Amino acid sequence: MIITDTHTHLYSEAFDEDREEMIERALRENITRFFIPAIDSSFSEAMFELEKKFPDKVFLMSGLHPTHVKENYRQELEFVKKELSRRKYYAVGEIGIDLYWDKSTLEIQQEAFRYQIQLAKKHDLPIVIHCREAFEEVFEVLESEAGEDLYGIFHCFTGNQKQAEQALSYNMKLGIGGVVTFKNGKIDQFLSVIPISEIVLETDSPYLAPVPYRGKRNESSYLVNVLNKVAEIYNVTPEEVAAVTTQNSKDLFGI
Ligand SMILES: [Zn+2]
Repeated sequence: MIITDTHTHLYSEAFDEDREEMIERALRENITRFFIPAIDSSFSEAMFELEKKFPDKVFLMSGLHPTHVKENYRQELEFVKKELSRRKYYAVGEIGIDLYWDKSTLEIQQEAFRYQIQLAKKHDLPIVIHCREAFEEVFEVLESEAGEDLYGIFHCFTGNQKQAEQALSYNMKLGIGGVVTFKNGKIDQFLSVIPISEIVLETDSPYLAPVPYRGKRNESSYLVNVLNKVAEIYNVTPEEVAAVTTQNSKDLFGI
C-alpha cells in the first residue's frame, strides 16, 4: 500500500525537535509520498534540505501563501516566477485568498492569486488553493481563469456540496484532511456523492490534526486516520482508498 500526503509542511519549525523521527513514523505507515506546499521565500532553504534527504519521496511546490501577501508581495512573486523557471516544481501552491486573518489585503491577495495562476498555466502545472472564509472571492478568480489549462487541488476543502461541485467544475480535486474526522466537520455528510476519483488525501501538518489527535500537533503519519475515515464514508477498503487517491495524485502532479 502506498499512501500520498498531498499537503504537508514537513519543514515547519513545529518539527525542529524530531523531524526525521516524525518522517520515519509516516514511512512505517506506508505514507511514502509527500507534497510540500510553499509559504514564502524564507522557507526555501529548509524545503531544499528536505528534498536532498528524501529525493524520491519529497516533491516541492513554489508559491506565495495568501496570509503572506504583504507589502513586499511583488518581490515575493518575482521570486516564485524565477524559481519556476530555474528548476522543477510539481505545483504552484499554496495560493488563494484568506479573509479570516486579514480582510484589508483582499485586493493584493486577488492580484497575487491571479498572477500565480497565470504562472502555473505558463509552466503547465497544477495549482494548490488555500481558501479561508473566501469561497466567493476564490470562485470569482477561478471563473475568470477557467479553461483546460487550469487544474489543481482545492486544499483542505471545508465547503458544502454545492461548493464542492463548483470546485470540481474548475478541474479542481478536493483535498481531504483531518476535518473529515471532526464531528461538526460537515464534509463527511456529502463526501460519498463526490466520485472518489475527484479527491486526494492530505494532512496540512502541523495543522488540523484528525481525531483522536484533534487540537494537537499534526504529522503525516496521522494520515492513516483520514484514510480510514474516507474508507468508511465510501464503504471501501483503506487499501482501495490509498490506491485510488495515490493514482489521482500521480495524474495531477505528473509523478
Ligand atoms: Zn498548508
